[in-house]
Amino acid sequence: MPKQVEVRMHESQLEPVEARPQNKCAKICAALSKNLLLTLTVLGVVMGAVSGMLLRVASPIHPDIIMVIAFPGDILMRMLKMLILPLIISSLITGLAGLDAKSSGRLGSRAMVYYMSTTIIAAILGVILVIVIHPGDPKLKENLGEGIKNDDVSSLDAAFDLIRNLFPENLVQACFQQIQTVTTKVEVIVEEAVNATSVDGLVANITKEPQIIIKRALQYKSGMNVLGLIGFFIAFGICMGKMGERAKLMLEFFNILNEIVMKIVIMIMWYSPFGIACLICGKIISIDDLETVARQLGMYMVTVIIGLLIHGAIFLPGIYFAIVRKNPFTFFMGIFQAWITALGTASSAGTLPVTFRCLEENLGIDKRVTRFVLPVGATINMDGTALYEAVAAIFIAQMNGIYLDPGQIITVSLTATLASVGAASIPSAGLVTMLLILTAVGLPTQDISLLVAVDWLLDRFRTSVNVMGDSYGAAIVYHLSKAELDELDATTAKSDDIEMSKTQSSYYDDIKNHQENNSNQ
Ligand code: ASP
Repeated sequence: MPKQVEVRMHESQLEPVEARPQNKCAKICAALSKNLLLTLTVLGVVMGAVSGMLLRVASPIHPDIIMVIAFPGDILMRMLKMLILPLIISSLITGLAGLDAKSSGRLGSRAMVYYMSTTIIAAILGVILVIVIHPGDPKLKENLGEGIKNDDVSSLDAAFDLIRNLFPENLVQACFQQIQTVTTKVEVIVEEAVNATSVDGLVANITKEPQIIIKRALQYKSGMNVLGLIGFFIAFGICMGKMGERAKLMLEFFNILNEIVMKIVIMIMWYSPFGIACLICGKIISIDDLETVARQLGMYMVTVIIGLLIHGAIFLPGIYFAIVRKNPFTFFMGIFQAWITALGTASSAGTLPVTFRCLEENLGIDKRVTRFVLPVGATINMDGTALYEAVAAIFIAQMNGIYLDPGQIITVSLTATLASVGAASIPSAGLVTMLLILTAVGLPTQDISLLVAVDWLLDRFRTSVNVMGDSYGAAIVYHLSKAELDELDATTAKSDDIEMSKTQSSYYDDIKNHQENNSNQ
């Protein structure tokens, strides 16, 4: 018998002969398809950017043509957004139900410490860079002109709105609306009594003074209240976990829902290279005066990009390495697909389904951690946004020739952190919450509109850093909680064994009783 056949016969004792080539094939196909998707997505970004630049030569392009080119990208965004609600609900419930109250508390506090510290670091980095580089020149203001007036927002109102949104009064409404304080300035005539002394004694003169008073009103604005949904479903998951066996059916339901959503994610991911290419191309061709804007706001853009690069390529990987002691580059390659999707979509919530897949499938992070930490991170942890907002606020001050004292600079760093927490995970949300910082330090809020022209690009970069921050955070929390999770698994396995042996012994008792009854008869 030839030797080769002998070996094969030996292997056949372990596994059926026909199964092996199929397994190998499946593995190779899976590896190929994984890299193929990544390659296609990178190609999508490059093709989108190049074709956009080339098409600009033929400008002005008819708005209908721009719409047709951007349309597949629009559909990608809609599909990704569609998954946010079922994904957040099913992942939070199943993630938290798999933990006991103590572990979920610890996991949550670790995540919070990470989120807050990295966001503050990012804001401070932004402040330092914008002061050192000093991109704002009062001459710029003359070229850019005056902006469009905005309503002022107070930090207190913004903080209270965040807390109000955390406790929605109606869960169904929270799926598409959130609350916001709206202030209006009203002029009222106030009667004032001014005392004056005359020859006859004390005389009261009544004067009528016009005064501006600020009226507050609560209004619902459209947009999903992700924070409120997260708050409710965290409580739901924890309570379900406490119920143990009795909640098993419900847990099974949400587990299956999560699996179904993840299957849809895979389908969408195969469409994403084309969608991302169209998104980027459509955006590039729709910008009016790319070159002039780039010249005028070039230094500002460079400051933001340098900051994002330092934070995303040095600080975050550095923190990861210091805590986890693993190669951050290998980790980054694992989340590359999510990073590119963030670049293409400019939405961390939209990227969430892909981030889940990358962390769970490519990097093997425990699902109990990703399912709890990622939805919360995508909503409140935005390092890139905090950095960007700090730079933009001080840039506006520099452009207007306004000197900010150290106290105001500290206020900028703190309000940038708060503003990033309050920003929705959707495109250009950071531009809206910047109002808060400008109002806090008394800067002209209308200048925000001067930055809109370059926001489409900076938004993509900061979103990609936001997604990286969430991913590194999940890996760090997993590393710090690994021992606890293993212990929890061991306890669960032990109680399962006891449960099984109880079931078995009662089964044997039943048989014994049955036999005894039979023999008595
Ligand atoms: N687009 C960002 C995100 O989704 C938010 C922002 O505008 O900064 O993370």
